Amino acid sequence: MTADLHTHTTASDGTLTPTELVTAAHALGISLLAVTDHDTTAGVAEAQTVATRLQMSFLPGVELSAEGTPGKCHLLGLGINPRHVRLNETLSQLSEHRRQRNEKMITRLNALGVAITMNDVLAVAPDGANLGRPHFAAALVASGTVADTREAFTRFLGDDSAAYITKETLSPADAIALVHDAGGLCFLAHPGLLRLAAHETYETRFRALQALGLDGIEAYYSSYSPADEARFLRLAEKLNLLVTGGSDFHGANKLHVPLGIVRDGQPLSRSLLPTRLLALATA
Ligand code: AMP
Ligand code: ZN
Ligand code: FE
Ligand code: FE
Repeated sequence: MTADLHTHTTASDGTLTPTELVTAAHALGISLLAVTDHDTTAGVAEAQTVATRLQMSFLPGVELSAEGTPGKCHLLGLGINPRHVRLNETLSQLSEHRRQRNEKMITRLNALGVAITMNDVLAVAPDGANLGRPHFAAALVASGTVADTREAFTRFLGDDSAAYITKETLSPADAIALVHDAGGLCFLAHPGLLRLAAHETYETRFRALQALGLDGIEAYYSSYSPADEARFLRLAEKLNLLVTGGSDFHGANKLHVPLGIVRDGQPLSRSLLPTRLLALATA
């Protein structure tokens, strides 16, 4: 009875379709799965259908980028209604911002002497994907401009690199309120990857987000050490925050992250997840 509550599909920057993802999860013995694509719920309905057919529990989800100051913070909405009107209106606006940002990244890359077009990016992306930097990285690799994804991010696409364009994002308050409006619980994704300001600690950041309505944190995460996990579990208990856990599976776009492997190389037992979260899953 294992769970993975953080996964990406071809609806954003994963490489498995929703059907392939759910089928792979089932084959691994995962009995509770959430699909949490970046700023879109386009993969959720298909995943839900397959999960139901395979008698798996399922949580519709989304991973929203929000202002982090400094940087970004990622917020997971779990147990949302994927057909919620205001949620979908907001996600459509974010997609339009992404489209404009992608054009700026093309312009910036061209100015840096890289001959790349939007068609080159579309050619390496699955149909209908919410396009982002991983697709740009794939296009740069395909054209031979760089050797691999790492070089693409180091030289061009990384947050501090030459072709980086900031993404218009929601404020954390708006993102949390939107998730609640859509019926879900809102969790801070992979807090270990946060950029903290000099005056901040994890505790002060968690408290600030909690004051905005944050329900919990992703205390179990594929890249955490046992010490990281213990620290986040301790803080969640101290602050009375819920916990969730997931791999952040992206398929071939993150080959070092296998599906369902959440805790220091191990799967996550459903029994470690809070009742309030489990209650939102479809049976
Ligand atoms: P975007 O939403 O378009 O800004 O793209 C963000 C995604 O790019 C993240 O979810 C990561 O999967 C990926 N990403 C960001 N930084 C790096 C990096 N340095 N190396 C590889 N992938 C990265
Ligand atoms: Zn991603
Ligand atoms: Fe993330
Ligand atoms: Fe993610």
